[in-house]
Amino acid sequence: MGISGIDEYNRKIKRILITKEEIDEALDKAASQINALYDGRPVLLVSILKGAFVFMADICRRVTVPCEIGFMCAKSYYSGTVSAGAVKITMDLEQDVSCYHVVIIEDIVDTGRTLSDVVKLLKGRSPASLTVITLLDKPSRRVVDFTPDTALFTIPDCFVIGYGLDCGEYYRNLPYIAEYNEEGN
Ligand code: 5GP
Repeated sequence: MGISGIDEYNRKIKRILITKEEIDEALDKAASQINALYDGRPVLLVSILKGAFVFMADICRRVTVPCEIGFMCAKSYYSGTVSAGAVKITMDLEQDVSCYHVVIIEDIVDTGRTLSDVVKLLKGRSPASLTVITLLDKPSRRVVDFTPDTALFTIPDCFVIGYGLDCGEYYRNLPYIAEYNEEGN
C-alpha cells in the first residue's frame, strides 16, 4: 500500500470500533479466565504473527499461572484487504507441544481458514489440551466450520486495523481497533 503522507494515513482511519479502555477491560476478563481454568498449571501461549503480537504482549502480562510463550507465522493475507485463500505456515513453533496445555492467542477469526489449519496441525502433535482465544471474531465471514473457544469481541463484516492489525503493514501501533476506510485516498 502506498501512502502519500500523514493526511492520507489519517483519512484511512474511518471510525474507532473498540476503544483502548474497552480492550483493557476485556483483557482483564480473559486473563482471569485463563488463570481460573489452568489453576496454577503451566501453559504455553502460542501467538500467530504478526497480527496477534500486541494482544499476546498484553495478555501474557496479566496471566499469573506459569507460562511460556511461542510464536508461529501463518500467512493468509498477502497484501491489502483481500484474502488469498490458502494458508501457509511460514514459521513453525519451536516447542514440542506434546507436554503443554496450549492456549492459542489470535488477533481475528475471519474466514476461519488460518485457525482451522493451525488447530489441526497442533492437535496432530497431541498437546495436553488446546484452547483458542481470539481478540476479534467476524462470524459473518466464515467459510470453514470453526468456532473459537473465547472471542473478546464480535464485530461486523468490515476490515479493521489497529492493536496489532495492519493494512499494508501500517496501523499495527494504534492503541484501539478502527474500521479501515477504503475510500480515503
Ligand atoms: P482467516 O484465516 O480467519 O480468514 O483470517 C485470519 C487472518 O486474516 C488474521 O489473522 C488477520 O491477519 C487477517 N485478517 C482477517 N480479517 C482482517 C481484518 O479485518 N483486518 C486485518 N488487518 N486483518 C484481517
